[in-house]
Amino acid sequence: MQRHNFSAGPCVLPQEVLQKASQALLDFDNGLSLIEISHRSKAFVDVMEQARALALELLGLEGKGYKALFLQGGASTQFLMVAQNLLEKKAAYLNTGTWSDKAIKEARIFDDITEVASSKSANFNYIPKGFDIPEDHDYFHLTSNNTIFGTQIKNFPKSPIPLVCDMSSDIFSRTLDFSQFDLIYAGAQKNMGPAGTTLVVVKEDILGKVSRKIPSMLDYKVHIDKSSMFNTPPVFAVYTSMLTLQWLKDLGGIAAIEKENEKKSRLMYSEIDLNPLFKGFAAKEDRSDMNATFTLTNDDLKDTFDTMWKEAGINGLNGHRSVGGYRASMYNALSLDSVKVLVEVMSELESKA
Ligand SMILES: *Cc1c(COP(=O)(O)O)cnc(C)c1O
Repeated sequence: MQRHNFSAGPCVLPQEVLQKASQALLDFDNGLSLIEISHRSKAFVDVMEQARALALELLGLEGKGYKALFLQGGASTQFLMVAQNLLEKKAAYLNTGTWSDKAIKEARIFDDITEVASSKSANFNYIPKGFDIPEDHDYFHLTSNNTIFGTQIKNFPKSPIPLVCDMSSDIFSRTLDFSQFDLIYAGAQKNMGPAGTTLVVVKEDILGKVSRKIPSMLDYKVHIDKSSMFNTPPVFAVYTSMLTLQWLKDLGGIAAIEKENEKKSRLMYSEIDLNPLFKGFAAKEDRSDMNATFTLTNDDLKDTFDTMWKEAGINGLNGHRSVGGYRASMYNALSLDSVKVLVEVMSELESKA
């Protein structure tokens, strides 16, 4: 049976990427597996360099003073690394959900944090707007897409201070002027590859301004100096991410995938809005093109609906425990056909009820 993987993360990857990645486990370099050769071999150094170059190329950041790194420790380690490397006196944060909240918690270990706005009291169902970004702070941090709540920032504020963005769940999904950001980070497992590596894209000139000592593994400058090979990198995660970035480039880059992503989210949200059995969770103007969150209007239909979507080959549709209901994650590698299958199940439920 064909599977339709709506999982929020780790998520669906392109079939051709999975095939090439599995082949590389068996024979990558003259009969040796990708995971049993030296990471200093030319074959792997080429992979790392290609992955770093592709990331900058797809984001339109080549030759603009940025460096791309593939680090370990997940996006969660970036919550602390950002503060450790950039926070001297004070930093400003926008709180739009669980992940922002966690980023704020880690940064507070280092120094004073100003929460410029928060939608916590509304269980994060919208993106706060119209706040001021304090000019005397070291940087402003935001989360572009709130994976759990299904909200997404559509218009980024102009920031008078360095702008730092957690793009874990929507990087490479839509065209943006990425040069408005000074540091972007993203755990690979949402839209780029398997868990185990985190992409960091940083503008070099914002570094080196804090007075504290930074442990080597947590110092962006160390990783830049060592071309993202300070220690043994997670070779399989980097290789698979590289294959996904190559797949995206061959498709026509971010502009091409954005069109597909818009078709998917339009179809999904029109069903949520038109079908009286369903109700969207997030404020309409802030709805995420990546994660659609919704509930049934009548809980008595839950068992029937759950059976129906599982029988249709759908996977990963249950909502996060802090929101409940359902979450359809529509990352780059999820096809429009998969969304059509889900929408058909939803309308079939309406005709049955
Ligand atoms: C999943 C997620 C994280 C956490 O990523 P890890 O790699 O598991 O640490 C952080 N931010 C956002 C927006 C996420 O979706």
